[in-house]
Amino acid sequence: MRNPIEGKNIIIIGSGVGGLSAGIILSRLNFRVTIIEKNHLPGGLMRSYRREGFDCPVGVHYVGALGKEEPLGKMFRALGIPVNELFAPMGQEEIIDRYIFDDLTFDLPTSIDALEKSLKNTFPQETAALDAIMINLREISRRMMDPSFLLNQGDPFQNMDYYQPMGEWLDSLKVSPSLRAVLGVPCNLIGVPLNDCPVIFHHMVLASYLFSSWRLKESGSKMTDVFVRRFEELSGKLVLNNGVKKILLVDGKVTGVVLESGEVLDADAVVATIHPKVLLQLLEENALRESYLRRIRGLRETEGVICVNISVNSAMHPEINHNIYRLRRDENGMISDGIFYQLRCGNSSGSNLLSLITKSLYSDWSQWENTVSGKRGKDYEEKKMGVARNLLKKAEEIFGNLHDAKILDVYTPLTVRDYVNAPEGACYGVMRSSRQLLKAMSLNNLPIPGLCLAGQNAIAPGVMGCLLGSFNAVRQIIGQKRFVQEIKWDKC
Ligand SMILES: Cc1cc2nc3c(=O)[nH]c(=O)nc-3n(C[C@H](O)[C@H](O)[C@H](O)COP(=O)(O)OP(=O)(O)OC[C@H]3O[C@@H](n4cnc5c(N)ncnc54)[C@H](O)[C@@H]3O)c2cc1C
Repeated sequence: MRNPIEGKNIIIIGSGVGGLSAGIILSRLNFRVTIIEKNHLPGGLMRSYRREGFDCPVGVHYVGALGKEEPLGKMFRALGIPVNELFAPMGQEEIIDRYIFDDLTFDLPTSIDALEKSLKNTFPQETAALDAIMINLREISRRMMDPSFLLNQGDPFQNMDYYQPMGEWLDSLKVSPSLRAVLGVPCNLIGVPLNDCPVIFHHMVLASYLFSSWRLKESGSKMTDVFVRRFEELSGKLVLNNGVKKILLVDGKVTGVVLESGEVLDADAVVATIHPKVLLQLLEENALRESYLRRIRGLRETEGVICVNISVNSAMHPEINHNIYRLRRDENGMISDGIFYQLRCGNSSGSNLLSLITKSLYSDWSQWENTVSGKRGKDYEEKKMGVARNLLKKAEEIFGNLHDAKILDVYTPLTVRDYVNAPEGACYGVMRSSRQLLKAMSLNNLPIPGLCLAGQNAIAPGVMGCLLGSFNAVRQIIGQKRFVQEIKWDKC
């Protein structure tokens, strides 16, 4: 969208954290906003679901940089969402994440200074490389704290070296395989392999968790309720259980949408918080140039995951206030296998909730590609439960005896695909790799007046990436001049 829009009616497609945050900011700016959600409940990946009294998380396990003066904290304040009602800080034992490799356990501490100290203690032969890495990491954290990070148009990181793949940079620093593996973990958090992950994304993810790390106090459903409440108190309208079937254009400009129910809604602008390949299905065939269509169709997705939620005996397995990553690396330091564990207080007495997530390729589930959630049949259920039982067995290496544990639920890339319309069940949407950076960046500015992307496919994934995408969408709708005048980070 090249120019600010004229008019007040905005339709947002999707009610995940991207759609609801965009809706809140636009409502605060006195637009008439309607969010359209295909599911019968709002929240997308942000929402948790209930099984046997437990709130099982989907897409919010922990977030970084929610402190008052930190980037995500400032964005929450600008939305008017109370951080303390939803989140509690982690790191009471000075650990955010424990990385367990076969030959090394490394604890990610709670600040950049502590990280430097810990890395230098663990890798005393590699101080020269670590000095270079820490200089870069500090520079990027400094820029993330600068108000221009949230306000400036375009790229706040003009240094092209930041877009080099992290793996290539580590090659030039000649780091050991062991250090490479430790430094590789943040790339996994945005679903990009180290060898193809731009230095900037690696550093932004790592820096945000080192500013401060937070877990939900209650659940993703509560987080969704608070976002919806805020949107509705600003007079936003939420339509559920009725997806957008078509985006209407007149003379190449957005004029409205057609819903699955057949209803037509007028709009001066549409903000789509959906995957760009799904967006193409909603547009007329000739709405975009062939070269642009090819670019979108050729985008590579982040990989899928399988997630298992398990109830465990709380006396034997009390809550752990940090996350655990069980990781395997090859001889070059590339992480070949990883399982994320989070052990949280349960909601029912006597039990806690162990959530685990690990990579699962979409192709592993291709046999059921043409089925829909809840109707995939016995073979699928058996395969899914077989994988879950193996993962539960492996978890005993870390948590000890889990014989009385109970698998509450398992979801696969097919579940994610059907639930939020994510092609191939891509966990973090489009892959923001060095190799397809330009293609992915062109999504920030779609060539159709009145149409823009927000959500995890616009700028970056995760709660922080989605909020950055929402502010960017608002900037496109109201123009940079008004954006700088009206979005007051410190006065909200
Ligand atoms: C397993 C997992 C763990 C994660 N853990 C974390 C974490 O710990 N921390 C973190 O920061 N991030 C995490 N993420 C990433 C984070 O959850 C996502 O980046 C974020 O929630 C995406 O929000 P969104 O609004 O872009 O998309 P979504 O939440 O996918 O919302 C899009 C919405 O659009 C709706 N929709 C689709 N098509 C249509 C249509 N045609 N009409 C109407 N509605 C439509 C969908 O139903 C959905 O509700 C995780 C993701 C996954 C999958």
